[in-house]
Amino acid sequence: MAIHSLRSLLLGAGLFLLPAMACATSFADRLREADAVRSGDSARFVALVDGLARDRDRADESELRHLRLLQDYRRAFAGDYQGASADAMALVEQAPEPVLRYRAALLVSNIAALKRDYLVGLRYLDRALSMRDRIEDPAIRNLSGTVAGTLYNEFGHYELALNEAERVLADHPDPHNRCGARQIRARALNGLGRTLDEGRDIQEAIADCAAQRQPMAVNAIRATLAEYWAAHGRRKQAIALLEKNLPETLDTGYTRLIGEVRQLLAQFHLDEGDVAKAQAQARAIVTAPGQDPTSLATVVAHRVLYLAAMQRGDTAEAFRHYRLYAEADKARLDDIKAREYAFQLSRHEIKQKNQSIALLTSKNRLLSLQQEVDRRTKWNFSLAIALLLVLVASFGYWGWRARRMHGSLRRLAETDGLTGLANRRHFRERSEAVLAACAERRRPVSVLLLDLDHFKQINDQCGHAAGDWVLREVARVGRLHCREQDLFGRLGGEEFALTLVDCDADAAMRTAEACRRAIASIDAGSTGCGLPVTASVGVVATRGASDYDYEALIAHADAAMYRSKLAGRNRVALYTPPPVPGAGQAEPALDRRNAEAMLREY
Ligand code: GH3
Ligand code: MG
Ligand code: MG
Repeated sequence: MAIHSLRSLLLGAGLFLLPAMACATSFADRLREADAVRSGDSARFVALVDGLARDRDRADESELRHLRLLQDYRRAFAGDYQGASADAMALVEQAPEPVLRYRAALLVSNIAALKRDYLVGLRYLDRALSMRDRIEDPAIRNLSGTVAGTLYNEFGHYELALNEAERVLADHPDPHNRCGARQIRARALNGLGRTLDEGRDIQEAIADCAAQRQPMAVNAIRATLAEYWAAHGRRKQAIALLEKNLPETLDTGYTRLIGEVRQLLAQFHLDEGDVAKAQAQARAIVTAPGQDPTSLATVVAHRVLYLAAMQRGDTAEAFRHYRLYAEADKARLDDIKAREYAFQLSRHEIKQKNQSIALLTSKNRLLSLQQEVDRRTKWNFSLAIALLLVLVASFGYWGWRARRMHGSLRRLAETDGLTGLANRRHFRERSEAVLAACAERRRPVSVLLLDLDHFKQINDQCGHAAGDWVLREVARVGRLHCREQDLFGRLGGEEFALTLVDCDADAAMRTAEACRRAIASIDAGSTGCGLPVTASVGVVATRGASDYDYEALIAHADAAMYRSKLAGRNRVALYTPPPVPGAGQAEPALDRRNAEAMLREY
């Protein structure tokens, strides 16, 4: 890469950055102006950078970093490569602006190549290349491509150089980078031994670079053409081309290019057998100030001078040049070895980096797949939970429905459909439970049995519907005389019973009488029935421990009720136990069969 690469880089970056603004006042404008004159007018560049440094308190953080980069260029121009490189390296790591990191990396790369630190040069060049896609300005973006192409040509990696040149040319390059890329392309094609299209590959490139006043590029392309011609049997034409343009080449003042052209001339003259002309070019090479001692030009020059001295018979001179030739050749081979080693190492590093990136990418992919799996597992889990909840809810609902159904079935089974009162079985069960509970503490319990009087007549005369209505009315008015703890049931037909808790005989008689009255006041007129509605009631109350037997109580209430019937109906009778045998005049026991027979007669 050497000096000309640095110059070409600095020139490139300088020429095509924003043009200087005449009335530039803001810090940003002054930075742009300094960038624009950087390689064209070094005195002005230095003055501008110094002025900016003095006014640094007017700059923001980003502008200060830009100024730092310009100061690094300035240091590099002044020969302080180490200082410039160290600070540019820091900028590569620290600057948040991609364009500053990119430009700093290119500067480090150029300085390193200049110092023949090829590995560092290649590493930073690779960093710049990897950043180029983020650079908006095409003039700056394509700079790394032309620097890389020039370098690869010098390293003899023509395929890579051709790649870079084609890439730049396909990126709508600015004129400067287009000229550079065409020069690289011509050299790479020649290096690869391809056939050159002299019109397109050479003449168009020369015209393009000439139009931009780039004589260095123009003459470098001519040198490539001369080489191509010489290799294809047109050596004289090659010599003529180079000699014709030698003054223009010398005017560039670019030692490396001049050395290359002179080296070609020396070689071609020697091959033509014109030792004198070859020697003249060789002398010019070895005496040129700043000539690279490891360059091919130096090697060829010493060889030509050695051969010429031999031809003259000047053994001492021949030996001196042979020694210099051998030294230069060795230094050159060492340099080639060093840069090839650096090149291979940097390729290896890039490969490793790419592999690590690929590994990281696959790890990330794996991670995201894992996350996807986790997400789906979670979703499946949520789905399972939701299903479970639905199942639980369904079971709960069906359980509730079943319980409700069971409850209504139970109620149906326990209730008399016409009156809504407890039916005979349920009344009995509940009464037995109440009696058992009250028996423990001897709490008084009474049972009332009501039988409607001549109900059959109501049915017969007023119809069954009127009978039903009467039965419902009896239930309604009977309920009015029940307390919360009392039980009321329909034992069947027109027969009702009440179990009164904590109720002795007197209280039971009062309730029975109240019920009787209430029933007697039922007016069935609304059903079109003029018959009276009355009931005969039998009452029994517990007295001794043995009285808490349901069957016995019902039987006794029944007996009392028949006594009411016999006594004329629509009345209440309290059960009186039969006298103990031998204890006075015994009332004849009234069993149900006898009573019914009597009633039928009545
Ligand atoms: P007594 O005063 O002697 O008790 O005479 P009674 O007519 O009330 O007695 P009986 O036992 O002769 O008649 C009962 C009648 O009750 C017979 C039956 O048709 C009627 N009955 C029974 N259940 C129902 C019912 O659910 N609805 C209606 N409308 N009548 C019923
Ligand atoms: Mg009856
Ligand atoms: Mg009856």
